Amino acid sequence: MIPYGRQAICDDDIEAVVEVLRGDWLTQGPSVERFEESVAEYVGTQFAIAFSSCTAALHGASWASGLGPGDTVFTSPLTFMASANAARYVGARPALVDISESTLNLDLASLPKEIDGLIPVHYAGLPVDMKAVAAHSTPRVIIEDAAHALGAQTPSGPVGNCHHSDMTCFSFHPVKPITAGEGGMVTTNNKHLADRLRIFRSHGIVRRPERGSWYYEISELGYHYRMTDIQAALGNSQLRRLDNFITERNEIAARYREAFKNIDEILPPPEAPSGFLHGYHLFPIRVQSRRRVIDFLQASGIRAQVHYVPIHHHPISSDVSIPKPGLPIVDSVYEGLLSLPIFPGMSLKQQEFVISKVEEAVLQLPRV
Ligand SMILES: *Cc1c(COP(=O)(O)O)cnc(C)c1O
Repeated sequence: MIPYGRQAICDDDIEAVVEVLRGDWLTQGPSVERFEESVAEYVGTQFAIAFSSCTAALHGASWASGLGPGDTVFTSPLTFMASANAARYVGARPALVDISESTLNLDLASLPKEIDGLIPVHYAGLPVDMKAVAAHSTPRVIIEDAAHALGAQTPSGPVGNCHHSDMTCFSFHPVKPITAGEGGMVTTNNKHLADRLRIFRSHGIVRRPERGSWYYEISELGYHYRMTDIQAALGNSQLRRLDNFITERNEIAARYREAFKNIDEILPPPEAPSGFLHGYHLFPIRVQSRRRVIDFLQASGIRAQVHYVPIHHHPISSDVSIPKPGLPIVDSVYEGLLSLPIFPGMSLKQQEFVISKVEEAVLQLPRV
């Protein structure tokens, strides 16, 4: 089976993990600190705070920013549920505006002017124009969901530099730009938020050395959302190859585009505007008879996937606020959407196989 995404692990990654296993620290320790420093340096923020997952990172970011009951938090309908759950976890209400067909990201023009919270998602790795967000809306809190976009670039620098947001959250799940097995990270330039995030990820613990080296206090509800040193060693080793991974993903995307350019039945994903570098976490195409195409690919040994069943289609989302005019674009985009395999280490042969099977599916399968 060719998966839609997978990790690329090399001997250096394995050695980095083994080195931690031979040392004194397995839980959060020096390796996590090094990983945090490397990610902060890569994206260009003052602080980076590691979490056990991006979901935990989003929860922490919502909490640290003071979002809570009575607040409405907007996000894209074309994302993983964690982007909306970030609001639910702190008792806030998720809200959705439609996507733009030209980016498949949240349509900035549809955003209400004054909102409590905004969680833009860099869908598939195509950066949201964060500078443009400010021109359309003035949210009290902006948390970028960059689970797809570590390594993607904008005219004002790497995604996650927080020039136009309070915090950015990343994921290190194996299909994401780099992996730590599992893991997440929040980047920020705000020391108060960084301090709050560190308290939140570790039970709400605040140390009070003036009362003794052992003494700590808990006055707020925290969680155990820490990353292990084992994970951080893998993440740190992977980070060194991130730029190569992104280059490889862009090469695969270019090959797909070239192969499909004269096939009207296949609509490729939006390209990055000039000055932006696409992260190509996903290569989501649009076709007719999506279900038949996916079944055909599956039978041929290619596991295509759909990103995503929109947020408002899930039964849990009866609580979501959807201002007029609703979500017609995402509903129509979703109809034909499917993600083709794209990952570092995908061989030329695998790429050619996927191209030929997709062509076969859209050109030769009878329509329904
Ligand atoms: C994968 C993903 C998450 C969750 O990341 P985990 O590390 O698996 O918790 C959140 N948002 C988006 C858009 C994702 O794709």
